[in-house]
Amino acid sequence: MKPVEEKWEIIKNSVITEYDISPIAVKTWIDPMEYYSETDDSVTIMLPNNKAKILDLITDKYKDIFIIAISETLNNDYDVNFIVDDVKPQENEVIQNNFQENESSNSSLIKKYTFDNFVTGNNSFAVSACLAVAETAGTDNNAYNPLYIYGGSGLGKTHLMHAIGNYLNEHNPSLKILYVNSENFTNEVIKSIRSGKKDNTESMTILREKYRNVDVLLIDDIQFIIGKDATQEEFFHTFNSLYENGKSIIISSDKHPKYMEILDERYLTRFQMGLQVDVQPPNYETRKAILIQLNQKHGDKISDEILTYITDNISSNIRELEGAYNKLIALSKISSNEITLEMAKNSLKDIINPNKNKVINFDVIMEEVTKHYNVSVNDILSNKRNKEIAIPRQIIMYLCDKLTEDTKSSIGSKLNRDHSTVISNINKVKEMIENDPSFEKNIDSLIKIITSL
Ligand code: ADP
Ligand code: MG
Repeated sequence: MKPVEEKWEIIKNSVITEYDISPIAVKTWIDPMEYYSETDDSVTIMLPNNKAKILDLITDKYKDIFIIAISETLNNDYDVNFIVDDVKPQENEVIQNNFQENESSNSSLIKKYTFDNFVTGNNSFAVSACLAVAETAGTDNNAYNPLYIYGGSGLGKTHLMHAIGNYLNEHNPSLKILYVNSENFTNEVIKSIRSGKKDNTESMTILREKYRNVDVLLIDDIQFIIGKDATQEEFFHTFNSLYENGKSIIISSDKHPKYMEILDERYLTRFQMGLQVDVQPPNYETRKAILIQLNQKHGDKISDEILTYITDNISSNIRELEGAYNKLIALSKISSNEITLEMAKNSLKDIINPNKNKVINFDVIMEEVTKHYNVSVNDILSNKRNKEIAIPRQIIMYLCDKLTEDTKSSIGSKLNRDHSTVISNINKVKEMIENDPSFEKNIDSLIKIITSL
């Protein structure tokens, strides 16, 4: 046996244990990986056929981790490549054909929303949960039923739901998949109540057949059914019927079930049976990556400088991020010259500077820094000292000192720290700015965001 081959299981295990990979990601991604081949300086890892679509995603996520794990296990450096098992091309063809035939039956899905073009960024937990569901929904061991995806508007919930549907459609084309927005569901319920006979049995039966005969139901924006009694009741029975028959249900909402006030206790219990995952606001890198991806699609029409400007200034909503980008693309179509930063700023001024006069104070800085680093205010105020929390906390002190009139002791008291801790933390940030250009850039962009709010 060759060196990597011999230690393959150990390497795989060290990836799993040392990188804190969630059980679901282990099951979805790591477990199915097989050792394939190696040379003196490179290793090839094989993924099962059904992972073809996400080869890039996996390479992106795991290549570096495997390079390090192999180097640590063998004291020798190897490059790592992933390939897909294409030993069974015939089976693949059959799937393709079925897929074509089935397209119309699953036409509730928007084809352009796929895992391929979803930038994982700081949402790897949500993405891996969705992938796990996509891989197992409609089978006897469907993971996480129901899957409940929640988070603010414009953060990718609908995209992820269609991605699950499209993935299933492609890999398991015999499944009946139905996507519905809960507003449409409500309208259908109302319509069938109205158009039904007195006891409205007939049209209700049609509605029930439609929703209860699917293998996978994706219901988007479930918060809309709150307070709509008949719809809520209908959905409750649909849910139970599907669930009892082992069918998969994927729900999205703008809030966690426990904050869905007025919703009956019965739902709360049911929604919490499976797994709840939240989609997080995108961090800086994720926003930039999404813009770069969009820009590639449009032939790199917009300069990097402008992409950075948008990334710096639109931080909480991907729909807005895309909106800003599309506005510039529209502008570029009517303009004969390349779009300059000045033109971009001018064209985006309504989107980007809506409340220019906002004062910069401790709260604003706290809000922007925690958002930027994806940490909670409670963590910042706590005694936790791990780097993920300590650094944003230090940055908050530095920015308050730089951008507000607060004294060091008043900054300290707002953060449950004393005056000398504040001074030493501010100095640490100054040192990092001096020694690390990318850190400096990060701070600059935060300052830009805060001062342009
Ligand atoms: P939500 O349903 O949470 O309100 P959507 O799924 O409709 O948000 O997303 C809004 C837009 O942003 C869509 O065009 C979607 O494709 C895009 N989008 C959201 N998140 C991502 C992401 N991580 N990568 C790429 N595009 C994204
Ligand atoms: Mg949506």
